[in-house]
Amino acid sequence: MQHDTTRGTKQISIPTRCEHVDMRTGEILNTSKSSFMLAPAPGGTCPECAVKHDPRDPHDAASFHYQYRFFGEHGRWPTWNDALAHCDPVTQERWARELVAHGIDDGTLSGQIPKDSK
Ligand SMILES: [Zn+2]
Repeated sequence: MQHDTTRGTKQISIPTRCEHVDMRTGEILNTSKSSFMLAPAPGGTCPECAVKHDPRDPHDAASFHYQYRFFGEHGRWPTWNDALAHCDPVTQERWARELVAHGIDDGTLSGQIPKDSK
């Protein structure tokens, strides 16, 4: 499997919210929508997560690049299940099992591990 080379080559706009705060009181005076531009991932890295990894393996869900890119595209923060979504079922199950075994479970991985497997 190859990375989609058409993705991750342009800056993308990430929506944010800007809060104007009274610095003396901490009161939020008003809120407005804003955005910032996320630079493309460096060459030689995965365009989704900006980490060097085999395209068959999951994205690095802890990567800020992955988190902000995903948020910009989906309007929500990614889960480990999202980072595994492009992997084949065997890879998904193996990664989910290892992540859970290492205490890394955001609550989305249990569906990847069959109940009757070890
Ligand atoms: Zn990746």
